[in-house]
Amino acid sequence: MRKLLVAANWKMNGRLEQNRALLQSLKNNGLLELNHEVDVLIIPPACYLSQVSQELVGTQVKLGAQNICSWLQDGAFTGEMNAQMMVDLNVSHVLVGHSERRAFCAESDELVAEKTKACLVSGLVPLVCVGETLDEREQGLLQAVLSRQVLTVAKSLDEEALSKVVWAYEPVWAIGTGLTATPEQAQEVHAFIRSLLATVMGQVAADKLHILYGGSVKANNAVELFAQKDIDGGLIGGASLSASDFLGICNAAK
Ligand code: PGA
Repeated sequence: MRKLLVAANWKMNGRLEQNRALLQSLKNNGLLELNHEVDVLIIPPACYLSQVSQELVGTQVKLGAQNICSWLQDGAFTGEMNAQMMVDLNVSHVLVGHSERRAFCAESDELVAEKTKACLVSGLVPLVCVGETLDEREQGLLQAVLSRQVLTVAKSLDEEALSKVVWAYEPVWAIGTGLTATPEQAQEVHAFIRSLLATVMGQVAADKLHILYGGSVKANNAVELFAQKDIDGGLIGGASLSASDFLGICNAAK
């Protein structure tokens, strides 16, 4: 019912030549054919958005940004980029609340909610990331942390806006560590997130939402993860930097 979405989060990686080679290899090895069955999104560093946008002209692959500022207007905010600028670069999706930004840039749930709104009023799809640390999981705080992260955003939006949000569950302990939540662990949390959203927007609307899984997804664990009822694709970090690994994951989503 929900078409799967696989997103490549390049994080702070890449150079012009390396990006060109990676995209070429993806295109030569089946990326474009895949797109009928799976939605694919590439999220490069901001300085390479134009390059990737040009490489993707004529394809259905979508372009994402890793961050925006919550301010909508242009003006005196050195070093920042707003949602309107992303629209100008053919961006369709924006990562919001990635755990690395929550941890290293002290992004709060409130700021994540503001950035989500800034995306929505600009016509961009926010890809809102949530997830617990190992410490929080071990202390039995999983549901409390996710409720806070999800509901701060969900309750700040009206139902129509909320229906446009894509979510990603990324347990912090699984990101870049080689540890992955088991398909059962991930499914349980995805179902919990959907149930939280259903309390705000109703079950029918919540059933239409995409909730991606992220955290050391590889070609060899993607099939089982994507087979879970409430997992609607993946947010891929490390494995998105290799054409064969990323295509393997996209193929698992067919
Ligand atoms: P990873 O990163 O696949 O390298 O674990 C996922 C992410 O942080 O989005």
